[in-house]
Amino acid sequence: MPQGIPTEYVRSRTLGDATLTMISDGSGWSTIINSLVDVPQEVWRREVDANENAEVMVGYNVAHLRLGNASILIDLGFDDPGPESQWMPPQHQRSPGVEAGLVTIGVKPADVTHVLITHAHGDHVAGGTIVRDGRRVARYPNARHFLGRTDWEEYASRTQSNSYPAVNLGTLLTLGQLELVDGDREIVPGVTLIHAPGESPGHSLVRVQSRGEVFYFLGDLFHHPAEVAHVDWVSRGRDATRMRASRERLIEAALRENALLATAHMPFPGLGRLERTAEGIRWRVVD
Ligand SMILES: [Zn+2]
Repeated sequence: MPQGIPTEYVRSRTLGDATLTMISDGSGWSTIINSLVDVPQEVWRREVDANENAEVMVGYNVAHLRLGNASILIDLGFDDPGPESQWMPPQHQRSPGVEAGLVTIGVKPADVTHVLITHAHGDHVAGGTIVRDGRRVARYPNARHFLGRTDWEEYASRTQSNSYPAVNLGTLLTLGQLELVDGDREIVPGVTLIHAPGESPGHSLVRVQSRGEVFYFLGDLFHHPAEVAHVDWVSRGRDATRMRASRERLIEAALRENALLATAHMPFPGLGRLERTAEGIRWRVVD
């Protein structure tokens, strides 16, 4: 098995009254750090473990939260793994997939009550719909889906009509199952979508608070721990000014709240906490 590919792909933990489960949808070598704007390779290589092609090992993590009667999926991941998959970055390995991971914790697609989408990039939305009996339908048929409005209006709706964002989000909108959110929105008591633009215009974090414990699913706010220490390290195609502001806002809150954090793209399970050191703010991996 290639280096960095996890053999385990589902991991649960308690968070106050909630159960948080991280599910890996896959992993692979990515050029995300090599595409940093205005940061030469000799500079970032001092802090980043990259291969000879200047790629870093990334994960593709989604989260599930069970809280009271709510069964909440955070991000949708890719489409189903297998030869039919249209969405498979080169050099990447798939896990059995998000739907299979949910089954291991007793969650069937029809059980999911809410789907919170951090942003409209393909690796976060491709799993949103599925073709059944010749019709494209929501994979989670009873779930209300939520997305920052500008990610649809300023991004996904402008992509090619056969792109993953356009197909999946467009279908959910047509079916009346996707709600576009302006600003911040409490979804169920204790679970809030927080607008944090930069990676994309409508990019959002998910904040969970239960019995004094605080958790954030950060989406693509940080792709790598080096971006925590250097909030101005931003990859091509992102809005660097807004990204930096969103990062600074989260760092301040997470330190104050001693929050548990999850990222979409750090290696599985993608969890960590922030700590203040003599050298600055650092990401500490949590198993
Ligand atoms: Zn992503």
